[in-house]
Amino acid sequence: MTDYLNLIDGAWTAAGDGATFESRNPADVDELIGRFPASGAEDARQAVAAVAAAAPGWAKTSPENRAQVLDRTAELLLRRKESLARELTREEGKTLAEATNEVNRTAANFRLYAGEALRVRGETFPGEAGQIICTIHQPVGVVAAITPWNFPISIPARKIGPALAAGNGVVFKPSNLTPLMGHRLVETLLEAGLPKQVIALVHGRGRTVGEAIVTAPQTGVITFTGSYPVGKRIYELAGPDKRTQLEMGGKNPCIVLEDADLDRAVQVVTKGAFGLSGQACTGTSRVLAADSLYDALAERLAEATAAIKVGNGLQNGVAMGPLASQAQLDKVLGYVATGTAQGGRHLTGGERLAGNGRDNGFFVSPALFADLPTGAPLTCEEVFGPVVAMQRVADLEEALSLGNAVEYGLAASIVTRDLGRVLDFAGRIEAGVIKVNSPTTGVALAAPFGGIKHSSNQVYKEQAGAGVMDFYTTTKTVYLNG
Ligand code: NAD
Repeated sequence: MTDYLNLIDGAWTAAGDGATFESRNPADVDELIGRFPASGAEDARQAVAAVAAAAPGWAKTSPENRAQVLDRTAELLLRRKESLARELTREEGKTLAEATNEVNRTAANFRLYAGEALRVRGETFPGEAGQIICTIHQPVGVVAAITPWNFPISIPARKIGPALAAGNGVVFKPSNLTPLMGHRLVETLLEAGLPKQVIALVHGRGRTVGEAIVTAPQTGVITFTGSYPVGKRIYELAGPDKRTQLEMGGKNPCIVLEDADLDRAVQVVTKGAFGLSGQACTGTSRVLAADSLYDALAERLAEATAAIKVGNGLQNGVAMGPLASQAQLDKVLGYVATGTAQGGRHLTGGERLAGNGRDNGFFVSPALFADLPTGAPLTCEEVFGPVVAMQRVADLEEALSLGNAVEYGLAASIVTRDLGRVLDFAGRIEAGVIKVNSPTTGVALAAPFGGIKHSSNQVYKEQAGAGVMDFYTTTKTVYLNG
């Protein structure tokens, strides 16, 4: 099957005007993944209204019932892990191992939020004699989940899972680059027993569909992951009456101090920078290395980077898949060109790759630049691709100063054995996720996740353990007198 539809008011439907767009394999653009509705604003508004009508019924179901649906979703995802992972690789490009991890993580998310459905708790407070004061948490109604393409099934899961667990209805708009993964997720939820009016799936452009969902009067909560400019626009459109959670870009540094073990540093940087083809919000894009080991590290990193095998993620032995789109390829090649133009020393990579089955895909070799002057685009702008900029620093003080000299504040890591300086780093680096002797990428499911500065609006963290059910519920304070 190659033709897919929206889910609106429990029915699979085409866009109102019948328009469609295509999803193609970034490793081979001749391969069509599917055709999806290029929906209009009216389609999106109908979807929100239908979910608003169905949400109270879902809110009345027991938490146990909601937990069962989410648990069963996890079970179905795991049962189909192999085929889902292959589709994910074909649609987004990441390697099969990375895709399998993502499907596992998606299932784990649903398991986690199945448990959270049973843990929505209020509190009691001291009152006058004969009085009980307590808080109750109620579902907000309609949750809008607007998501990016780089984790096209696990990011939606960590939004849709808690939203449904809390008793809300969901309007889901996946990225246009990865609509099939969005479709698969919704299909699985329905099969697991979610009433089909409780979730809507609307494909289409962000400017059209996304904005109509955000501005629809019934939308109560918006959870968005994506770029800063889009997040800012959503924040402005949503206004003060809607609750928004915006998780956005990063420009994540890895600081390597002079006492670092070089093998460890090379491993931490290459995994953080080039895993997922560098297309991770927490991906390492800057290395701030101490003068005494800078040259040795640059040499070792260049070797390790050049050895990364780039190809179709379905092939055995491939460590890095293609970029996700033509736009990604153009952007990455554009940034690579700025590397030397701005005075950096090109160490390796950054070339478009062809041959060996790569002629029809968006393949680029992972790139490393050294000696970039502060302020050069590669040192401060989000590339969102496999490009690393190295800068030489005298000490931790200078590393912190350069590390913090960007607008983003998502993840940061340090490689050192010096606990005192680790503590200094953790206290002073401007980032929401701090890693010590491990890559900037990779986070635990049940720990708070989110950035600071341009990386997040910081109102609510994502993931369980971070009061996540508060975000998806309205808190009321009740004064009970006999
Ligand atoms: P994007 O901002 O272009 O799009 C994200 C989603 O928003 C898509 O579904 C898109 O269609 C929709 N959208 C676009 N314009 C819209 C509008 N005006 N109104 C409403 N919705 C709109 O981001 P992308 O290219 O899909 O993803 C890459 C970005 O996501 C990078 O900046 C990356 O750092 C960020 N990201 C952040 C995290 C995190 O947790 N902080 C995780 C993954 C990706």
